[in-house]
Amino acid sequence: MTELDVQTLKQNIQQVQERIDAAAKKAGRSASDIHLVAATKMNDAERVRVAIENGIQIAGENRVQELLEKYDLHAYDGASLHFIGTLQSNKIKYLMGKVSLIQSVSSERLGQLISKEAQKHEICQDVLLEINIGNEASKSGIEPQNLEQTVANLCKLPGIHIRGLMAIPPIAHVSGGNLHYFDRMRQLFIDISQKKYDNVSMDYLSMGMSGDFEDAISCGANMVRVGTAIFGLRPYMTK
Ligand SMILES: *Cc1c(COP(=O)(O)O)cnc(C)c1O
Repeated sequence: MTELDVQTLKQNIQQVQERIDAAAKKAGRSASDIHLVAATKMNDAERVRVAIENGIQIAGENRVQELLEKYDLHAYDGASLHFIGTLQSNKIKYLMGKVSLIQSVSSERLGQLISKEAQKHEICQDVLLEINIGNEASKSGIEPQNLEQTVANLCKLPGIHIRGLMAIPPIAHVSGGNLHYFDRMRQLFIDISQKKYDNVSMDYLSMGMSGDFEDAISCGANMVRVGTAIFGLRPYMTK
């Protein structure tokens, strides 16, 4: 990276942090309650390292192969690592012991398989349940109407600990277009919290990306996943 690249990255991180602080304040909340996850996909190990040197405390990776390559290069040293992408069942084993949180448990079956794999590795894996909040046919995720049953079933399994919910709402075409999805997520989050399932801690509500994390925070998100606002456009976005 050039010195200019480093300075830009540093400034971007500061700006995102300031935007989070302002959104938290506006919502009457403390900025320290909001966890910033840098979505690092398509950014190489060096860029991830520089982001961590400049204040990023959590990296979120989308693809297992990419994560393993960067992991071997010590890209994530000094930060926590989350998995935030589509997870194929045959790849679960590669994440064990490497990621502190799998944010994208998109079905009961995936949760069951993580439970099995975690037991083999003698760990307890923290997870978020990914909700298909827009009920989109093209998207994975637990349907809102099936959430309670899924929590009730998964919370009984060893090796897995539900720590909250995550969502990727439909692409919004107007500013504020996702507010009603974020609001429904908050409602689901509160509903599950109030049911007080054993072995379930509703600690994290992960929603909001570069274009809409302020709206997400206004609706109760305490974890936001930000890529382009930190790292700039990804190669396929500039074509
Ligand atoms: C890429 C990605 C993000 C960040 O998206 P940006 O719009 O670049 O901020 C957040 N969550 C997931 C699951 C992602 O894949």
